[in-house]
Amino acid sequence: MADGEFGGYGGRHVPEPLLDPLSQLAAAYDELSRSEGFRDRFRELLAEFAGRPTPLYHARNLSDRYGAEIYLKREDLLHGGAHKINNAIGQALLAKEAGRPRLIAETGAGQHGVATAMAGAMMGLETEIYMGRKDVERQRMNVFRMRLMGATVNEVTRGGAGLADAVDAALEDFAETVDHTHYLVGSAVGPDPFPRMVREFQSVIGEEAREQFIERTGGLPDAAVACVGGGSNAIGLFHAFRDDDVAFYGAEGGGEGADSDRHAAPLAAGEDAVIHGMKTRVIDDDVEVHSVSAGLDYPGVGPEHAMFRELGRCEYTAVTDDAALAAFRELSEAEGIIPALESSHGVARAIRLAEAGDHERILVNLSGRGDKDMETAAERFDL
Ligand SMILES: *Cc1c(COP(=O)(O)O)cnc(C)c1O
Repeated sequence: MADGEFGGYGGRHVPEPLLDPLSQLAAAYDELSRSEGFRDRFRELLAEFAGRPTPLYHARNLSDRYGAEIYLKREDLLHGGAHKINNAIGQALLAKEAGRPRLIAETGAGQHGVATAMAGAMMGLETEIYMGRKDVERQRMNVFRMRLMGATVNEVTRGGAGLADAVDAALEDFAETVDHTHYLVGSAVGPDPFPRMVREFQSVIGEEAREQFIERTGGLPDAAVACVGGGSNAIGLFHAFRDDDVAFYGAEGGGEGADSDRHAAPLAAGEDAVIHGMKTRVIDDDVEVHSVSAGLDYPGVGPEHAMFRELGRCEYTAVTDDAALAAFRELSEAEGIIPALESSHGVARAIRLAEAGDHERILVNLSGRGDKDMETAAERFDL
């Protein structure tokens, strides 16, 4: 599938029963994404439901401290508190327009499940979320939010009862229900067409930021920085700058360090492998997937990032839990903005870049707000 290839990464590495559903989905997506009516409706919903455009904020205090101009794209101000809603709206609209009245999704910590429940309720679609039993127990409030918005939460008890088992359960459901169901994948991962579809729905981040940056400063940033879990907020930021002279930096969940046995940094330290229907980079077998931020806690990464790494188009670094927590605290105290722990990885990377003095103007995607992370932070900081 030429469309789903990213320099040898990507593809559709799935069991036979899923090939046909994926072809059907790709055809529906290809047709709708060219339709002006679909694109107008998507833009309208991003504005009136999600709260776009989000501001571009010049972080003057942080800039003064580190000697480079640092700008934040404020995706934390969106409905739901993160960029995930852009993709959830896009795919829910696709389901609706393609005549599929039912949404399913997998979720780990619950953030993507909540975004799917929001979009499903707004669009009037039946919504079922697969979630490992362990996560259901750890994330009671997100389970409650999903149910409050009318979604059914299915506890998955097989295997390790975690995110990977929830993905398997959702895929099995999808193979049997494709005629009336859309599987709403939460990041730029999985088999074709998901990586390119999610990129398309998230690319509004970079399109807005590029325009805002030019309007504000008269030029482009020297560098664009984003955290990378599955890679959707990063690819959404980067895409509009792809052909520009703008350096890209991806900050992965470095956990206890890229050379430790607990991290979530398949690009900085991993190997080529097939996972969840795509060929990409995956952490080594003897590494336990871990990050202080639940949203970066994923063993693989979107195939386009694997390609960017190989081409040298983007530099990927493992940002440790400790470095992310320090940046989390610093942005809160310097600017009055509490970032998500995921986004804090990008902020930490931007601060290091500013200190190194290689770039004058640095654009950082602030993918989400930190309210969900208060308990983790309160355990670490004795204030
Ligand atoms: C889920 C999440 C991420 C990681 O997902 P990507 O697909 O890599 O963007 C990053 N930031 C926040 C706030 C999230 O909720």
